[in-house]
Amino acid sequence: MKFVSSLFLFCALTTFFAMGADSATPPFIILKLDDVSSPTPAWERTLKFLEEKGIKSALGIVAASLERKNSTYHDWLKELQAKGLVEFWNHGLDHKQWKEGDKDVSEFKGTTYEHQKEHFERAQQLSKELLGQPFSAFGAPFNETDDATKKVLSENPDLKVWLYGKPIEILSGVIVIDRTPLNIENPTFVPNLERVKKSYESRDTKRDIFVMQGHPNAWNDERFADFVKIVEYLQEQGVIFTTPSQYYQHRQSLKEKAGQASLP
Ligand SMILES: [Zn+2]
Repeated sequence: MKFVSSLFLFCALTTFFAMGADSATPPFIILKLDDVSSPTPAWERTLKFLEEKGIKSALGIVAASLERKNSTYHDWLKELQAKGLVEFWNHGLDHKQWKEGDKDVSEFKGTTYEHQKEHFERAQQLSKELLGQPFSAFGAPFNETDDATKKVLSENPDLKVWLYGKPIEILSGVIVIDRTPLNIENPTFVPNLERVKKSYESRDTKRDIFVMQGHPNAWNDERFADFVKIVEYLQEQGVIFTTPSQYYQHRQSLKEKAGQASLP
């Protein structure tokens, strides 16, 4: 009973902190851009555009790419890191998906705890070695996870944000941000301005954060042009583009303020 009531209190507090927004307050947006493993022209174009606009984004690295001997790629990542507009996050080690009998299995779903632990921690280590720090955020390949993933994530002290975790999967010390209809692409790989407008207008205005997923490598000229329109539309709405770590810090400072306010 005590557990239930404190869990309820925890949820209530979490909700309170996350829902400081009202209809007049534009939300935070994290642009969750997936599948970095080399500096392709599609990535260059997307990041150049965001840089010109001064917009922050969050880039999911398939971390086995950090092991490859490729100094051009690695220098490119370090340059992006130094500019301070992007945050890299853990998008698995190999991003694999396969069949075991009839069962669909992927890197973080249907595999053993040991497999997931090794892949997650190896990715963290590779980031530490190349970029000087472990990743603070995680998003699974295909957004597919299971109970073993939750255990692995709960054991890592550096993890602060789980992108597209399910809200029920509350982890101590980790902010879990679930998926909503407000996304860059619909269907997957196709930026869809009309859908973004509809989803933005009908969004839950009590939420203060939305994570919008996209795959720049899949965008041809036309799709990229639609991505540009989406970003410009969101800017007109006054949203605040942020990164997982900066949003985490924002939430921490709200928590501290609330804690101070309740002191006698
Ligand atoms: Zn992916």
